[in-house]
Amino acid sequence: MDERPADTTIRTTCPYCGVGCGVLATPRPDGSVAIAGDPAHPANFGRLCSKGSALGETLGLEERLLFPTIAGARANWDDALSRVAERFTATIAEHGRDSVAFYVSGQLLTEDYYIANKLMKGFIGSANIDTNSRLCMASSVAGHRRAFGSDTVPGTYEDLEQADLIVLVGSNLAWCHPVLYQRIAAAKAARPQMKIVLVDPRRTASADLADLHLPIAADGDTALFAGLLPFLAEAGAIHCDYVARHTDGFVEALRRARGMRLPHVAEATGLDSRQVQAFYELFARTEKVVTVYSQGVNQSVTGTDKVNAIINCHLATGRIGRPGMGPFSVTGQPNAMGGREVGGMANMLAAHMAIEDPAHRSLVRDFWDARAMPDRAGLKAVDMFRAVADGRIRALWIIGTNPVVSMPDADAVKAALAACPFVVVSDVVARNDTLPFADVALPAAAWGEKDGTVTNSERRISRQRPFLPLPGEARPDWAIIADVARRMGFADGFSHASAADVFDEHARLSAYGNAGERDFDIGALAGLDQCGYDALPPVQWPQPRTVTSHGSGDASVEATAALANDGSRFFGDGDFFHPDRRARFVAVDVAPRRRLGKGRFLLNTGRVRDHWHTMTRTGRSARLSAHVAEPFVDVHPADAAAQGIAEAGLVTVRSGIGAAIVRCRTTDRQSRGSVFVPMHWSDEFSGSGRIDAVVAPAVDPVSGQPGLKATEVSIAPFPAV
Ligand code: SF4
Repeated sequence: MDERPADTTIRTTCPYCGVGCGVLATPRPDGSVAIAGDPAHPANFGRLCSKGSALGETLGLEERLLFPTIAGARANWDDALSRVAERFTATIAEHGRDSVAFYVSGQLLTEDYYIANKLMKGFIGSANIDTNSRLCMASSVAGHRRAFGSDTVPGTYEDLEQADLIVLVGSNLAWCHPVLYQRIAAAKAARPQMKIVLVDPRRTASADLADLHLPIAADGDTALFAGLLPFLAEAGAIHCDYVARHTDGFVEALRRARGMRLPHVAEATGLDSRQVQAFYELFARTEKVVTVYSQGVNQSVTGTDKVNAIINCHLATGRIGRPGMGPFSVTGQPNAMGGREVGGMANMLAAHMAIEDPAHRSLVRDFWDARAMPDRAGLKAVDMFRAVADGRIRALWIIGTNPVVSMPDADAVKAALAACPFVVVSDVVARNDTLPFADVALPAAAWGEKDGTVTNSERRISRQRPFLPLPGEARPDWAIIADVARRMGFADGFSHASAADVFDEHARLSAYGNAGERDFDIGALAGLDQCGYDALPPVQWPQPRTVTSHGSGDASVEATAALANDGSRFFGDGDFFHPDRRARFVAVDVAPRRRLGKGRFLLNTGRVRDHWHTMTRTGRSARLSAHVAEPFVDVHPADAAAQGIAEAGLVTVRSGIGAAIVRCRTTDRQSRGSVFVPMHWSDEFSGSGRIDAVVAPAVDPVSGQPGLKATEVSIAPFPAV
């Protein structure tokens, strides 16, 4: 970081959710940091939510990991990195390249993600690198690829302000993407004709803005949108020309959905058929519709089908890629999208290329001058930890995530790490639930110290810039990984001098990989020098490939300023990324509604407004912690009474694999037959509220994303009477 005087304001990006708000950070002489929203950032125009505005309260060196450790004892970097390189090399030599794995994070910057993927896929030669984004939006990625031929979010945030109907499906924007919610609320106040429908088993805070709330049964979304398709056909709302010219599979998708008449939809979704009809009629008659969805859709064993059932309705009506129209998956994490751009998942390659495609593999191999490339997908998150448990993976590097709290069947993950012969953990904190299993712990740079880029839910790349010095011996993640790569004998591919160097290589690969194709990549950003990278404004892809050289110094800065664009959309012109340039309808099957026995409930998990993931950062702020002080279970009052549970009493939530003890909150915002527990609390923070030890590890067969919102449980007073 440059030597900057205190009181210099730095433009950076919030490290929490996928809205990707611009932040102005001003270090003060007393060591504190003033935080404000960046009025010039197109994601938030100066707004911040409670988490973003408290960022200054979560900084500081208390409980930071400041030096490497080996077997829990302080070590120097040289010994720690050599130990990692030697153990990974020896494990590969003895057990093969698929005996090692990286488990990374949507908190990483794009540059970190790029280097980790380059090492694992191009030089180690395995695809065993997956990310906690698998828990967040993998079903959307899979659904996009099935429908569009690539993982491409069609729309922009402006579409939410221009729509006449916003359908929020499994998405509590008010708490989980608050600034986006604020933008919608402002637009609705200015344009009262805008309608909002909330599809969610819970009456969340987002219901406060909704004109219609559909309290759908768990996993009823496929039925709801499958039933919408024949309704649209009968209402004359199909855009026949668009469907005929730009899509395939409509007839089969419609045939499969024909049986979904209103009574069937009502039965499968648990909704009143009049509510369903009201929603269908609104959707059919409104041209400008955006369907926003997130974890309630993605975190399901049928998540990919849910995504495609939604996309089918937008393709059928041609309501995609035009102002105020489209299916819109919002990402949970700050850089889930950037990770997708660099192929950050076990079944992807950089620049939206496919690991199963020999031409793509050879292209990336040539560009990297790689030693080895895997010819098949690696292990996705849940399977990766199963492979650790059964000894197929014998060396694991966990980077910037806390799987002992956040993975389903979290106690099995804990046992797997305890049994794994070699575990490395890179993190910013000195204590979390995963670090005790580390043979080697490596101190990483945190927000405010890191330098790089993130991409938000609308494909906008923003800089995270440092405004604090690196503390202790902390280093950027990309530099740590590159150092290990060099020690493993891969010096040629990992000699980058800076994050700007890494970004430039990523952009050049994107240009190379997509040469001759449309500009759905970031190739236009290739050639930035350090000045241009430092000056990079928030910029959305696709970028027209008009800038081939950015020059240097002032010329590079001017060229980057010219990159900011007006928010291009995809697919309005009917040009998709399948080889024949046509979209695909996906015919989906509707599973019958789950019926549970007496005293059984479906456990839904999710976030609260003021905490983030496993609370390693937001748990430091007294203000944020005051919003919800302890883990809880929301139970409908009638269900609580039937189980003999009192308001504010302690409750044991138990599934077939584990139990958690949490405080009861009775509320009629919760549907009968289901309960809700937040996912944040760990043994570190609560001792008993680690709910993912209760959540079953069932996954969507297409995306590999776990179903984190529908585990069958019992609830009972604690202690049992
Ligand atoms: Fe940060 Fe998301 Fe809040 Fe914006 S909405 S300030 S990105 S947490």
